[in-house]
Amino acid sequence: MANIQGIAASSGIAIAKAYRLETPDLSFEKASTDNPLFEIERLEKALEVSKQELEKIKAHTKENIGDEHAEIFSAHLLVLSDPELINPMKDKIESEKVIAEAALDEVATMFIDMFKNMDNEYMRERAADIHDVTTRVKAHLLGVSIPDPALIDEEVIVIANDLTPSDTAQLNREFVKGFATDIGGRTSHSAIMARSLEIPAVVGTKEITTTVNKDEMIIVDGNEGLVIVNPTQDEIALYHKKQEEFAKQKQEWAKLKNEPTITADGDQVELAANIGTPDDVIGVLDNGGEAIGLYRTEFLYMGKSQLPTEEEQFTAYKSVLEQMQDKPVVVRTLDVGGDKELNYLDLPKELNPFLGFRAIRFCLENEHVFRPQLRALLRASVYGNLKIMFPMIATLEEFRSAKAILLDEKEALKKEGFEVSDEIEIGIMVEIPSTAVIAKQFAKEVDFFSIGTNDLIQYTMAADRMNEQVSYLYQPYHPAILNLINNVIESAHSEGKWVGMCGEMAGDPIAIPILLGLGLDEFSMSATSILPARTQIRKLDKANLASYKEKILSMGTAEEVVQFIKEKTE
Ligand code: PEP
Ligand code: MG
Repeated sequence: MANIQGIAASSGIAIAKAYRLETPDLSFEKASTDNPLFEIERLEKALEVSKQELEKIKAHTKENIGDEHAEIFSAHLLVLSDPELINPMKDKIESEKVIAEAALDEVATMFIDMFKNMDNEYMRERAADIHDVTTRVKAHLLGVSIPDPALIDEEVIVIANDLTPSDTAQLNREFVKGFATDIGGRTSHSAIMARSLEIPAVVGTKEITTTVNKDEMIIVDGNEGLVIVNPTQDEIALYHKKQEEFAKQKQEWAKLKNEPTITADGDQVELAANIGTPDDVIGVLDNGGEAIGLYRTEFLYMGKSQLPTEEEQFTAYKSVLEQMQDKPVVVRTLDVGGDKELNYLDLPKELNPFLGFRAIRFCLENEHVFRPQLRALLRASVYGNLKIMFPMIATLEEFRSAKAILLDEKEALKKEGFEVSDEIEIGIMVEIPSTAVIAKQFAKEVDFFSIGTNDLIQYTMAADRMNEQVSYLYQPYHPAILNLINNVIESAHSEGKWVGMCGEMAGDPIAIPILLGLGLDEFSMSATSILPARTQIRKLDKANLASYKEKILSMGTAEEVVQFIKEKTE
């Protein structure tokens, strides 16, 4: 047995065999054939099996995750039936007398290179499709199986170097009991998705894929960030017990589902949830969420081959607002770039994507992407309590430009005869230090702030949130971060505005008493953190915590802060 320590990314305990999600070795020797007809037959068979597989994956994805995610497989099926791609492969086998895998490889590479270099975005996107589907066909020719997360139909724990958000979206909750990855941190998007899917997960283990073999029994302890490989019978029994205890603990928490979040001295705060899709709302309500503090709309744009239409977006936003029944819903406009890539937008590869052309920077330069989203939001506004939030605001000019486009679309919609609410609050994410520093000036113009600590910490400490080597600098309790947060809260309150936090820090049990003492109004977190947070807050005395404010803000290190707050709240 071996224990692998990683980062606790999503709570809960999973016990199952390992399923390795990886691309296998598909290399082969290029050889000639004296039986081209046989090779053509092999190719046709491999194409047929691949099509059947894709149909299955498409159906599974549609059933388990939804139409949007399934659409990508329709595009893949089209590629496999395209005679312009398939006929040249057969011609090559006949004329050059090469084996099927060689013909497939050469023709696919030629098309991929050709499409990759085209000016047209749609055509460039097809290069990725051709690569995906021809890899599948090649695997069949070589008799090698490639893993399909959507097709998993027995209880497993997925292990991988990393999981992209769309890989994560394809995981079927019924069978995937947990996952563990080599890279990533608590705020990487696979970790965030795991929490919204309520799948126990450990990330950033550095060695899971090199240590664990296919079908080996493992335990993922998402509470402690631990993976146990080949556990003994005693360990399995111990973790079954821990699973039961965790389930009991959850039942205790559930008693507070419909209770308000009131501190021991009678002050009320709001506990909201972060979501990625309309399907997540059920989990929010089940976990006693009082609001949606962050709807990350980028998931609407992922796992597709083109931009979502205004209508598709309208349907999604309306669904979230209706399900929340007049409870506040803060929708963040598209935050693409950084670690959130969209193939079809053809974003340039950047050396420092987190500091690059992302979020509001991209939207202000690409109004054809931005405006349909704003229109969809404005049209949906009459179905609930909508608040709109712009991400990655670094300057007042950016906020003013974004707001002007929003108001322009509002006017246009009204002229077109649409009903639009006049009560929509317009706020910003505070996740760039420049904005946190001049929060006072911003507070005069915005309706609310939501502090995005996942990014604010990485920018303030100059420590990439995805890079494990500098993860020791990712310090939420660092006095520099706390002083910035305090400045944002004081500035907002002096102008009568409210402040939320939607970074992962808002659900952190060590940070919660500090933030309560600083006067944070709304805490937005993964749905599963809401009830533990409510349990904790109901025992805390806000006035007492507020009296430590000056002392905490003048401390020199994160360690001092943690030690102090632990002593005071134990
Ligand atoms: C943040 O930066 O804290 C945040 C909530 O945004 P994201 O994690 O989506 O970048
Ligand atoms: Mg952010």
